[in-house]
Formats: sequence, C-alpha cells, structure tokens
Amino acid sequence: MGRIRVLPDILVKRIAAGEVIERPASVVKELMENAVDAGARSIAVTAEQGGTHLIRVTDDGAGMSADQLSLAVTPHATSKLQSEADLYRIQSLGFRGEALASIGAVSRMRLVSRSRDADEGAEIVVEGEQVQTNRAAGCAAGTTVEVRELFFNVPARRKFLRAAGTEFGHVNTQFARIALAHPRIAFELAHNDRVVHQLPLTASRRERIGRFYGRELGEALLECRRDDAELSIEAYAAPPADARSSAGWQLTFLNGRHIRDRSIQHAIKEAYRGLIDPQRYPIVFLFLQIDPNMVDVNVHPTKIEVRWQDSRAVHAQVLSALRETLQAADLTPALRAGRGAAPPPLDQEQRAELLRSMADEFKQMTPTQPAVAGPQGHSRPGSAMPPRAVTQPDTTRSGIETWRAMYGQAPPAVQPGDTGSSLDQQASPFASRTGAFQLHNTYLVCETEDGMVIIDQHALHERIIFERLKERIAGGKLESQRLLLPETMHVTEAQSALLHEHADLLERMGMEVTRFGPDEVAVQSTPALLKDNAVVDFLRDLLDKLEHRVDEPGSDEIIYDLLSMMACKAAVKAGDPLTRQEIDDLVRQKDLVEKSSNCPHGRPTTLRMTVKDLERQFKRT
Ligand code: ADP
Ligand code: MG
Repeated sequence: MGRIRVLPDILVKRIAAGEVIERPASVVKELMENAVDAGARSIAVTAEQGGTHLIRVTDDGAGMSADQLSLAVTPHATSKLQSEADLYRIQSLGFRGEALASIGAVSRMRLVSRSRDADEGAEIVVEGEQVQTNRAAGCAAGTTVEVRELFFNVPARRKFLRAAGTEFGHVNTQFARIALAHPRIAFELAHNDRVVHQLPLTASRRERIGRFYGRELGEALLECRRDDAELSIEAYAAPPADARSSAGWQLTFLNGRHIRDRSIQHAIKEAYRGLIDPQRYPIVFLFLQIDPNMVDVNVHPTKIEVRWQDSRAVHAQVLSALRETLQAADLTPALRAGRGAAPPPLDQEQRAELLRSMADEFKQMTPTQPAVAGPQGHSRPGSAMPPRAVTQPDTTRSGIETWRAMYGQAPPAVQPGDTGSSLDQQASPFASRTGAFQLHNTYLVCETEDGMVIIDQHALHERIIFERLKERIAGGKLESQRLLLPETMHVTEAQSALLHEHADLLERMGMEVTRFGPDEVAVQSTPALLKDNAVVDFLRDLLDKLEHRVDEPGSDEIIYDLLSMMACKAAVKAGDPLTRQEIDDLVRQKDLVEKSSNCPHGRPTTLRMTVKDLERQFKRT
C-alpha cells in the first residue's frame, strides 16, 4: 500500500461526477430539472445518437447573468439553498449545486443564458472542467445548455455506453418522469431530428399521461384524490386488466419529483391483491404532495430515494386511497378495440355452456382429422358481443387449442366410458389403474408406483409448452400465422426503436410487426400458438421486458424469457376444468419433457407423496 495522500482536485471532481452522471439520461435529468427550477414554461430537449453525441436543453426560464454563469459551473454552487434551514424545507428539484460542475468535468459543455431583465446574454464554454470562453452573446431570455461528447475524457465510462437506441430509451424514461410530474410546462423531445414527444401545457394530469402513453390508457385510468392536511394524494390507476409484466409502469412522484419507494410499491401491490395475477404489476401513476419537513430527499445524489418521517402513515393512506378507488370502480373491463383488453368475465352459466360446446367439438374429432380452426370461435350465449371479431378477446383457453397448435392434431377422441386406457400408458410411470383426477379445477392427482403425485395443471402445462417451443426455436423459428386483420397497438418512439433493433428476434418468434402511423404498429403475423387477441398482450409484455431490463442479457436469455411468457399465456389456467382426455394427456406428457418438475418460472409443477409417507402419517409403521 502506498502512502495516504489527499486526492488531487481533478480526481475528486471526476469521482463526484461519476455519482451523478452515469449516462446521457442523467445529463438530461439534471438539465431538465434545472429548467423546471428556473420557472420555465416551455422546455425543449434534443438528443443525437442517444445523447452520446449531443444533448441540448433549452428553456424560457429565469436565465442567468454573465457573472452567475461561471459560478453555475463551479462545484457546490447553488442559488437554491441560502441557509442550513433551507435544507429541511426543500421545494426545488436541485439543491446540491453539483450537476453543472459534474457535467462540465466529463464533457464539452456550452451554456448560453440571458435573464429576463438583461439586454444582453452571456456564453460560457467548459471542457473537462476548464473554462474556455466566457463572453457576451445575443440570445433569447432563458437558458440553453449543450453537452457534447459525454465522457470524452473518461474512456472507462464511455466504454459502458450502450447502443444509441438503448441510451435513448433511458433518455426517454427520464424525460417522461419529469414531463409527467409537470403538466403545466410544455415539453418537447427530439431525437436525431425527429420530434418524439410534443406535450402542450395542460392543467390535467390525465391528459398529460394520455399524450405520453396513448389516449386509450389515459381514458381508462381510474382517478382518485385525497387531500389531508399532511399528505395529498392524486392517483391514476389502471383497471387490473391492464396490468403489465414489469413494474416500469408504476410511477410515484413526490412534490414534483419522481421517486422510488418500497413501501409505496408494497401499498400498490396490496391494493390490487386478488384482482391481478401476483406476478404482474398494475399501472399506477401516483402524485403525492407532502410538507417538505416530513420527508428527507437528501439520501442519495440522484435523489431517487427518500426517507419518510412516518412511512407507515404514507403506506396506509396510499393503500386505502387506491383500494377505495378500485372498489368503487366498475371493474368489468370495457372492450377497447385494438388494445387487447381482457373480455368481460363469463358468468357461471356461460362458462359451463362454453365448456360443454368445447367438449362436444372435441368429441367429434377423430385422431386423423387435420387441425382446422372452427368456423368461428366459441359462441357466447347470453353475451351481447358480436360473434367473432378480431378485436374480441377471449382469454378462456381450452387446452385443446393449445394441443392442436402444438401437435398439429387433436388428441385421440374419447370413447364413451373410456377412462383414457387407449393412451400409451407405458410412456409414463404415472400410468395409473384409475386415471388421474382433477381437484378444484386446478390440481391433478395421480397414482404412481410408489405413492401419488399432485400436479399443478397450469405449471406443468406451461413447462410442457415451453419445452416444445424451445425445441422448435432451436431448429429455426416458431411457426407463424398471418392475421386476417392486423392488430394495432400504440407504441412510444423508444419502443418503436426497440422493435426495430430486435427485428430478428421478432421474426424468430414468428411475429411480423410493421409501422402503422406515427405512434402505432400493426401486428401482421403471430406465433401460431397465441390467439389473435393474446398477441397484443404478448407484444406489450415483450416491450416491457426489453425496455426495463437492467443490463443487456444475451439473446438466449431474452428468448428464454419470451418463450416462458408465451407458454404462460398459452397454458391452461388454474380454475379451467379439463376433460378426461386433457387430464390424461397432460399427465402422459410429463415425463417426455425435460425438467418437468418445475415450471419455467421455477415453481414446482409436482408434489410427491409415497406410500411410505402415508404410512408414517397414519402411524401404520
Ligand atoms: P443545483 O441545481 O443543485 O443548484 P446545478 O449545478 O444544477 O445545481 O446548477 C447550479 C446553479 O445554476 C443553480 O442553482 C441555478 O442557480 C443555476 N442554473 C442552472 N441551470 C439553470 C437554468 N436552466 N436556468 C437558470 N439558472 C440555472
Ligand atoms: Mg440542478
């Protein structure tokens, strides 16, 4: 070990810069926050090559005078804290006085600014923390900051930058967080000369959300307001049917700042408990206002985490506000064309009828009959919906269709009185004298040579489909099926870039997606296994996965992820009654697939109990 010495100033600065500035998106965040703090009413952001070549943020806020400009780029110089007391009642987004100095230390930065009452503006150029130019300049009131060649002098950081499309995705995320928090400011985001978002100022948060994520989502959101002396809550929560496969659609804002908070995430999860699959995440936009005295935002340099004075009270209030809103809402999902919303749930009778008709259809098929889709989907007696439209979702899946799609033909027909003995029983050690039976439409119980097994029907089916899919994709790509009418879906610019970037992947999955207007795509072909209406759902989950993954996994991992998602959507669900035939087939397949003791998510598919175990339990030994 060498001798202890004080670090040279330049190193200290670079280390500090690294804490705040991680990638182009962090620059965008800091510059946009400064513009908001300056009271701007309009903020324009431009990025080139994902922000790695250029980031420019222009505002019409208060501006700075010439002598203030050089102070602004000095470390720990801020206009936002005047005294220590201010630190405990922070109203502004910035206050640490670090951002401009940090950015200046790791890029070529240029600031041009004029305060509203000055006749003339000023310009300053900083390169790797050296001030190069400081002179008068003609410009409009407000401030423009340009950041070029981020990390030009920090090769280690530069190496970690991702493809432009990925970096832009992060920029877009930061932009969204600030734009959603401040509807009364107009925002624009452009990337490589294309305008990606244009958000006019509005008094309505719902409108801002709709502009950003699509009008349909905006309109579907349930709204809730609560004003308590200490905490005010404004929430926009999507109905459970809109839940996503990642938490990237849960945004919490505290006093105009995006934050991430575990106890709030927990409250959201609790509020939707029982309404959605526990592995999915509801879409919730939560805007909280609290007395700045009651919370500490100075926990982390990027201020994304906070410390509440009374975190339990916040948790309880958010939970009860959301719960009440969900309870008061009519949660029967409305049919919205093209969004692949879940269908209204069938009532008991409709469901029974549907299952009967499926069973009939099934019985009429012979083993050699080729796989043809029925003339139309399942009829829905008593339902006011049109018989079959492309937009008519139907998430009730009989295992039969999956079988057809998987094996190209239906399983052997059931003879009256048949208990499944026509099947090749040698294929499975579960071959049982009695045949398996279904318990609570969820589990299959089955006699084995040395005892019994209980099978989770969804988990096992999921695993079986997953293995088949893996086999097929290893041999090239999944079977694809052209849609009669393409399904359309709203996408953001970043998502559209992702689709472009991963075109190969989509093709392998059997999907064909084309652009359809400025912010929509059309799905032309789907994996044969997915029903028409499930494809939009699948694509949305796929985008969520690509957008919110933390690092760049290899393509095998993405494929694994997608196949397991697809398998989950195609498999029978817990609660689906199965026919004799389906039960037997499922049990028979169990041994044919690898790792069938766990579903692709790792949950067990099967529990075993031996006769010995039973004997022990009954104290027979
Ligand atoms: P902080 O925002 O924490 O104060 P920064 O380094 O981001 O630190 O900015 C330093 C100072 O520069 C701010 O306190 C503010 O006075 C001034 N400043 C930065 N950006 C702007 C802007 N867009 N308009 C007006 N003043 C700005
Ligand atoms: Mg700042």
